[in-house]
Amino acid sequence: MNKERLVNTFLDLVRIPSPSRNERRVADYILNFCNANGIEVYEDDANIEYGGNAGNIVAILRAENKKRLMFSAHMDTVLPCDEINPIIEDEVIHSDGTSILGGDDKCGIAAMLEMMLNVKSLTDRPELIFVFSFGEENGLNGPKYMDTQQLGKIDGAYILDSSGRPGEIVKGAPYFANGVLKVIGKEAHAGICPEKGVNALCVAAQAITQLHIGRVDEETTCNLGEVKGGLAYNIVMPSVEIVFEARSLNHDKLENLLNQVHLVFKETCSELNARFESTVKIQTPGFMIDEDDEISRAVVNACEKIGLQAEFKTSGGASDANIYNSKGIKSLNLACGMSEVHTVQEYLRIEDLVKTTELITALMEEYK
Ligand SMILES: [Zn+2]
Repeated sequence: MNKERLVNTFLDLVRIPSPSRNERRVADYILNFCNANGIEVYEDDANIEYGGNAGNIVAILRAENKKRLMFSAHMDTVLPCDEINPIIEDEVIHSDGTSILGGDDKCGIAAMLEMMLNVKSLTDRPELIFVFSFGEENGLNGPKYMDTQQLGKIDGAYILDSSGRPGEIVKGAPYFANGVLKVIGKEAHAGICPEKGVNALCVAAQAITQLHIGRVDEETTCNLGEVKGGLAYNIVMPSVEIVFEARSLNHDKLENLLNQVHLVFKETCSELNARFESTVKIQTPGFMIDEDDEISRAVVNACEKIGLQAEFKTSGGASDANIYNSKGIKSLNLACGMSEVHTVQEYLRIEDLVKTTELITALMEEYK
C-alpha cells in the first residue's frame, strides 16, 4: 500500500462537503477514481425514490468462480461540514475546530479505494464488491432503498463504519422502536367543574408507574424522552403526548416490551375513561452475528495476521449493517479508528487509517 496516497485520498474526500442527500460530489470523486484506474463501477438509481442527489456507488473487481466478498462505507456526513479544513498534527488528522472531520465515514471510503488499487491486478483473490452508500446518517437509506438483489450472492460483508480502534468488531446492534404514546382525556374548567374532565396527564402517570422504564434487562432499554400536553392552568389537561423509544438486541424481547406498554396504556385508559393512541413501531431491524460464524472467524484470523487484537462488541447505535443483515447479506461492522464522531473534535490517527486498509486486505486473503 502507498501510505501517502492513502492519506491524500482521505484528505481529498473530507474536503468535499457531503451532508445527507447531497453526496453528489463524493459520488463523482469515487466514479472518477474508479474510471481513471480501470475499475468497473456503476451508480444505482435508489436515490430517485429517496430524494438525494446521488445513488449508491458499486465498484466490482471481478474474479470468476470465486467467493464474493463485500465492503461498504457511507458517503454522507453529519453537519457542520460546509467547509472542512483537515489539519495533520503528530500523525493525527483533525478539523480546524469549526466543522466535523468526516472520518465517519470517509476513513472507510479511503481505505477501500486504496485497497482497490493494490489488489485489482491480483489473480488469486475473491470477487470484491465495494459499496459506497448514501444517506446513512439520516436513516440508513442507502441499503434501505437499494435493490440488494443486484449485488448477487455475497459470502461475507464488512461495513467500515464503527468508531474505535481497528480490531474492534461490532457483532450486533439493537432493534430500535420509537413513536408517540398519546392519551386523550377530556377538558373541563379546572375550578368550576373538574369532575367533568379527565386529566390526560394523571392517566398517563398511572400507566407509567406500572411500567419499567430505563434499563429493562441487559439487552433491552426504553425511554420516555419528551412530553407535550396541556392548554392552561385552569383547564383540565385534555391530552398528552409522550415520545417513547425502546431498543433490544433481541427481537422478541422488544416485541414483548412494546406489547406490554401498549396493553398497560390501553387498559389504564379504558379504566379511567380516556382513549389511547400509539404510533410506536419497530423502525430499524437489529442483528446479532455469532462469534463462531465464518464471517467472524475470518476477521479474527485477519486481525491476527496483521498484529491486531480482535475484540467483539455490541453497539447501541445502528449502521448500514443493520439493513444489510435484515436483507440477507450477513454483515459485521468494523471499527476503523474514527474518534469523537459527530463533533467538531472528531479526529483520526493515520496509523488507524493504515491499519484499516491492511485489515480489509488481510480479510481478502481469508476468502480466497
Ligand atoms: Zn458512520
